[in-house]
Amino acid sequence: MKKMNDLSLLRRQRSSEILRFILANGAMTRSEIVACTGYTMASVIKYTQFLVESGVLMQEPGGSGRTLSFRIATGLGNVVAIVVGRTIQAILVNPHGVELCSSDKIPFESDISPEAFLAVIDQVIGQVKQRHASSKGGDMRAIAIGLAIGGYINPRKGISHSFYASKTWQEFKITDAIGSAYGIHTFMMNDANAAVLGEKYYGDGKAFENMLLLWLGEGTGLGLLLQGELYTGASFYAGEIGHTKTELSDELCYCGKNGCLETVTSESNLIRSFRNMIGSVVNSGGIIHHQDGAEDVTIQTLINLANQGDRFAQKVFTYAAKALAAKLADICNVLNPEALLFRGPIIDGNRFLFDAVEHELRPLLLSPIDSALTLSYNTGSASPIGKGLSAAALLQILGDTTPESEGSGL
Ligand SMILES: [Zn+2]
Repeated sequence: MKKMNDLSLLRRQRSSEILRFILANGAMTRSEIVACTGYTMASVIKYTQFLVESGVLMQEPGGSGRTLSFRIATGLGNVVAIVVGRTIQAILVNPHGVELCSSDKIPFESDISPEAFLAVIDQVIGQVKQRHASSKGGDMRAIAIGLAIGGYINPRKGISHSFYASKTWQEFKITDAIGSAYGIHTFMMNDANAAVLGEKYYGDGKAFENMLLLWLGEGTGLGLLLQGELYTGASFYAGEIGHTKTELSDELCYCGKNGCLETVTSESNLIRSFRNMIGSVVNSGGIIHHQDGAEDVTIQTLINLANQGDRFAQKVFTYAAKALAAKLADICNVLNPEALLFRGPIIDGNRFLFDAVEHELRPLLLSPIDSALTLSYNTGSASPIGKGLSAAALLQILGDTTPESEGSGL
């Protein structure tokens, strides 16, 4: 990979553009690359040859058997994706977006020290390494480590400004510490941003160049893909709608403001609303809730209840749908996206919430916006975040998305 650093800026940009299209399409012939990029056939031949020689692309017979098609080389190596939320999990992802194995989800104390945080990272990486060795043999062949963290981060510095467990060490350069411990390129992304890249390159978003992904978990965030590029804004804070004001709440948020969207839509607040709503013993829609049992309510319980017709669970989600739709309508009416994907533990498999959001949202959209907009949710629970970190790592290899990746030692 050393050869990459000798490329001129123009060559690197063109190689990067070709790589981006191949990542999004899986495999492409030279003619298809010409059609997508607008480069001459001579240029495409030159750059694809360079990328094959560099080990980034591999060539194989195309559909007709006479033409060659190009795809990301399996031999390029894998990416260790680390998903940080209330737990930390590592996932090993290959260059085709396939998750090879994953660690346990390790919980940690909310006042964890940076040293203990790094020890958990070390633990999950160790688990992935060991599981990969026992199932596939050999080492992980990792080319990068990517971290996904919710909220306000600075990917250039590798710090998190708002991670709840790093309140006393928010200037600590997490990615520097991990990168120097493992000796490979390490980077950080907001989790909704990683998710939108995962859908763009390996999931349901391949056809879209203008796409929003709403992540609904303990936090509420929006990943924005505009004209094919991830949009993160001037302070890397674009899409953080969780702490914007909703008219449907005036409750105090943990951020210190009142009436943030997350005071209605976060996982813990949805569960709290449900607990507050149900009485000692109520019968709603034929489903019995017991007060004692309410302590055990998880978001999955709530989703199952809503899908089964429980009117209390449905009331909680309907309220959240109204708050979400009002926000999303304004955003969609301004940005005119092709697609809005809903992902995350609150809406994965939650047909009731998805239908409720669509029911509230569509009437608020301007007609040309509405007719162009595809809405979808995930009927399963597979998260795109690990795959998105893998795509981001591959894009960074050619210096596409972060200036720091140039000469990163990959
Ligand atoms: Zn807030």
